[in-house]
Amino acid sequence: MTGLQTAAQAMLAATARLRAAGVDDPARDARLLLAHAARIEASRVTLIAPEELQPEIAERYDQLISLRAIRVPVSHLLGEREFYGRKFWVSRDVLDPRPETETLIEAALSAPFDHVLDLGVGSGCILITLLAERTSASGVGVDLSEAACLQASANAVEHHVEGRVDIVRSNWFENIDGQFDLIVSNPPYVSVEEMADLSPEVKEHEPRMALTDEGDGLGAYRRIAASAPDFLLPGGRILVEIGPTQAKKVGALFDAAGLVDVRVIPDLDGRDRVVGAKMPG
Ligand code: GLN
Repeated sequence: MTGLQTAAQAMLAATARLRAAGVDDPARDARLLLAHAARIEASRVTLIAPEELQPEIAERYDQLISLRAIRVPVSHLLGEREFYGRKFWVSRDVLDPRPETETLIEAALSAPFDHVLDLGVGSGCILITLLAERTSASGVGVDLSEAACLQASANAVEHHVEGRVDIVRSNWFENIDGQFDLIVSNPPYVSVEEMADLSPEVKEHEPRMALTDEGDGLGAYRRIAASAPDFLLPGGRILVEIGPTQAKKVGALFDAAGLVDVRVIPDLDGRDRVVGAKMPG
């Protein structure tokens, strides 16, 4: 390259590279990654667009675009992702917080709770959001992955709820004591056949154990439904995220476990996204 490119020129070239690599929204990603390389807020990119990019920023940008072109998720390159208005530290050790999971947050916040259990806590985005929104509540988050437990703990500190949260390494309910008035989970629900259809970002860069049960996608719900009644207080609620085709089957599992008031809640795209039920009061 001779001479220095302006930020606008660099972004255009990066957008073309990302488009050729099959990235979904190449212009958006080119912009976010330029902001990251230049260490500025994304909202300020337009201001620097006419300016020449300093060589160290251009080099950093080139590295980021190369990684994005092999479909490393933007969140992993930035190290963070926003969820329900807060930033969470993320990495390839945890499922990326997704906007559809905010449906579960809204459902949880629609009624009071004091003590919440999150099964498969991952980044901690569900549990920590709930505790940040309900400042008198406490909670327990479990994950089989030690790395996920560390990530959730870091996010608890980031959002100042570490004094009200216990992060425990556990295979579902195995190392858990006590009873809760709310159980939440976004378990692995992709069937092993469906894994092939996921985007490269998800399939190659997110933890497989957070995505699939290596079976029909309902394995986690069977485990959760079987034990939930032992850990729910009378009248306590359970809310789980589901894949859009799983509502009936997950509802039937809760029903068979003796839970009542089974209901299905759609996400903002109108797809079934959360199944809720209650412990008989
Ligand atoms: N919603 C995720 C996806 O389809 C799956 C998350 C999960 O299994 N909990 O990419």
